Amino acid sequence: MRDDLHATATRRLRRVSQRYTSGRRVLVEVLAAAEHPLTIPEIVELDASLATSSVYRNLAALEQAGIATKIVTSQEHARYELSEDFGHHHHHLVCIDCGRVSDFTLPAGVEQELDAALRRAARKEGYVHDTHRLDLTGTCPECQ
Ligand SMILES: [Zn+2]
Ligand SMILES: [Zn+2]
Repeated sequence: MRDDLHATATRRLRRVSQRYTSGRRVLVEVLAAAEHPLTIPEIVELDASLATSSVYRNLAALEQAGIATKIVTSQEHARYELSEDFGHHHHHLVCIDCGRVSDFTLPAGVEQELDAALRRAARKEGYVHDTHRLDLTGTCPECQ
């Protein structure tokens, strides 16, 4: 599984003419081990070998290659996670006060209905529906 992840990461970076450097590898390991999307300061705190400036650049490369996904919140720092195709399909709860992000999933039946509705909406606009990203914003229990 882990080897798979690195092999896919190597391939995707190559597609955008980038290399899978050791710094990027560490970054992918940190994101893979995380339980929720991380900010850059959190990433640097988790692995002391990483420097903020290179994390910044490397995340941009991972995002461009489709390996990492950025989640924008109301806070100063965006959050990052591994792209969904490395894990399972999920959604995010984003707190509009503290910027905390947690994952949640919907029942399979709801996902199917959602996909059917989105497919119809996409077709109307001449698009072929691929997948959806759905983040909920609200106030977390601590901020209420
Ligand atoms: Zn909050
Ligand atoms: Zn979904």
